[in-house]
Amino acid sequence: MIPKKIPFLFTACALLMLFLSSACKQEQDVNVTSEPVVTEKPVVERDLFYHYSIWYAFVNKVFEGDLTVSKLKTKGDIGLGSYTKLDGELIMLDGVPYRATEDGVVSIADDADKIVYVNATFFDEDISFKVTDSINYDALRGEINKHLPTKNMFYGFKIHGTFKNIKCGGLNKQEPPFKEGLDVLIPNRPIFKAENIEGTMVGFYCPQFIGDINVAGYHLHFISDDKKFGGHVMAFNAVSLDVSIDEMYEYQFVLPNTDAYRKVGFDKQFQYKKN
Ligand SMILES: [Zn+2]
Repeated sequence: MIPKKIPFLFTACALLMLFLSSACKQEQDVNVTSEPVVTEKPVVERDLFYHYSIWYAFVNKVFEGDLTVSKLKTKGDIGLGSYTKLDGELIMLDGVPYRATEDGVVSIADDADKIVYVNATFFDEDISFKVTDSINYDALRGEINKHLPTKNMFYGFKIHGTFKNIKCGGLNKQEPPFKEGLDVLIPNRPIFKAENIEGTMVGFYCPQFIGDINVAGYHLHFISDDKKFGGHVMAFNAVSLDVSIDEMYEYQFVLPNTDAYRKVGFDKQFQYKKN
């Protein structure tokens, strides 16, 4: 026999559930309409040293990358590196990525172009000094060393000036299958020379502990004021220089997500000797 109270309990429970679900819905409706929509702006880490591919992958024939120029532009406004298949030295100044090809011609890269190796940052001047006497690359390294608060941080450079002469290196474009690594290609690189020219050297300093990941010491690329001459800085005699330095304490490196990178062996070795 069913007690008389049971149907009453069922009805009470059903009513309670109806009430709760309706209250819940009302609360949801209130939440949706009352909360302001917050759109968060992406935070740009300006003291971040951005580094795509590792130096020893680049040395060991990982010459095709999956980083686009448009993505690079979100990582910095100065930079140096190389385009895919070594199709030109990369020099980025004031957010514009220039390409100096093997024949010495300088142009602006397209957003869809690919990069094999790059260093970049958003440049903010922390330290600056002027050089008013003639100075070569070795002496400039010594001068910058005197101005660095510590050699344990990373630094970015924008160095504008007048050059009596400058010698820059390029790279010969390669087609797969790639035969030689940078240990062979860099000593045999095309060389471009200019005299009485104004322009900017952009680049970076990495502490020696960076090892095989990147270029230890100084690495600079040059672009002339008329944007017709550029490349990897090998030697120069400058008449006057404005040296601007950005100290960076964060370092991000991004590996190529490619088959070539996954399979690379790190058997070849190459580091610039004087840095
Ligand atoms: Zn270089």
